[in-house]
Amino acid sequence: MNLRCTLCNRTYPLDTRRWRCECGGAFDVAGLPGFDPATVDSSAPGLWRYRATLPLPENATPVTLGEVTTPLVEAELDGLRFHCKVEYLSPTGSFKDRGTAVLVSVLRALGVQKVVEDSSGNAGASLAAYTARAGIACTVFVPAHASPAKQAQIAAFGAQLVRVPGPRENAARAVQEAAAEGAYYASHYYNPLGLAGLRTIAYELWEQLGRRVPDNVVLPAGHGTLLLGIYRGFRDLKQAGLITRLPRLFAVQAQPCAPLHAAFIQGNAEPIIVEEGATVAEGVRIARPLRGQEILAAVRETGGQVLAVPDEETLAGRDALARRGLYVEPTSAVAIAALAHLRPVIGADEITVVPLTGSGFKSPLHQPRFQEVVRDFVRQHGLLHTPETHALDLVSEVGEVAKEVLKSTDYGQRPFAPTPELADELGDALYALAALADSCGVDLEQSLEGVLHKYAARLESTGHAGSD
Ligand SMILES: [Zn+2]
Repeated sequence: MNLRCTLCNRTYPLDTRRWRCECGGAFDVAGLPGFDPATVDSSAPGLWRYRATLPLPENATPVTLGEVTTPLVEAELDGLRFHCKVEYLSPTGSFKDRGTAVLVSVLRALGVQKVVEDSSGNAGASLAAYTARAGIACTVFVPAHASPAKQAQIAAFGAQLVRVPGPRENAARAVQEAAAEGAYYASHYYNPLGLAGLRTIAYELWEQLGRRVPDNVVLPAGHGTLLLGIYRGFRDLKQAGLITRLPRLFAVQAQPCAPLHAAFIQGNAEPIIVEEGATVAEGVRIARPLRGQEILAAVRETGGQVLAVPDEETLAGRDALARRGLYVEPTSAVAIAALAHLRPVIGADEITVVPLTGSGFKSPLHQPRFQEVVRDFVRQHGLLHTPETHALDLVSEVGEVAKEVLKSTDYGQRPFAPTPELADELGDALYALAALADSCGVDLEQSLEGVLHKYAARLESTGHAGSD
């Protein structure tokens, strides 16, 4: 087995420290074993049943956190029956563990000691957990807008968490710079070792459905690793003569960031470059899918579609699924939202599978932000005034803060030691700022994200954050 460039076919050894070809192309694993039912190890848990298909050196001991065969649970929505593949029951709460378990097992066997990764959250949390298990140092670059619960999960595993302001792509640029300095880039989308592990979802489905292929698989797609893993897994089964056709693959994106959908409806072979719009489906907020051409080809080959759903439908889909006892994060729910649009093309007797990719615990139903808390309080007590009044209130509260800072040095007589009242005065100022923003119709957290992005860009070009 070795790594082969998907653009120019040049090959590299499995233990290369390069994360992509010299030509810029992404790698695939060449010489990967296919699927042979005779090699399934029924005594091994989870994806390790299919170890014979994985790019693991023969003497390597798997790095495991107790992976399981994820259950297939039936559900029904507006008369449409489907099977949920409950991937969020994986060790860190998302399907990413299948890829990470394989990748980190290989890296430990190769003696890698330090890895870097960029992620909107789930892949980073997964890598942080498995590297902690393997004793490998890990740094994860996340967009600053990533769910706080995911960031906390990454940090809890002991990984170094680097929050990168601005769009998701800034985190990708930051990790590539870190990789250029010598760390192993354990990318969940560039690195093909993890991708090989995702094929096991297809093998499991085939076994769970009584050695049958489903008619349809409806799934979220950002970089499309889940789709490609499932596509390649079913292709293995077909090549082994175990199934005669592939399932139709329906890739679902979020409308604010849908490069694959744009390409699909325009008949393009390559993704169309789009602006990276903010969406509740943070896991598929990807403006440039790495293996976009292969994703589009797989969808077309199987007779599927690429869809894009608005955030309102995604949130409604998540709620509808939760009412059926299944709690997913919004990214997973884009596929649920898409089901309503697929009703005309899915037959009543067809087998449809929706992988539930990430746990709802990773992105709780409602996390009130401080501006919302202030807004509710202000409305409830009739404290909303004109912007002018709130602006004056803010200035007077900032004055109080300055006064407490002065008192903290006894008006310059001693070194700074904060007074007990300083925290209260800062709280008053924050309240006044939030009330002012609300009276002006401004979303403070959105403004803050934009400002941090601006400072970061300025630091990069001029070396300091202030304006001239
Ligand atoms: Zn190449």
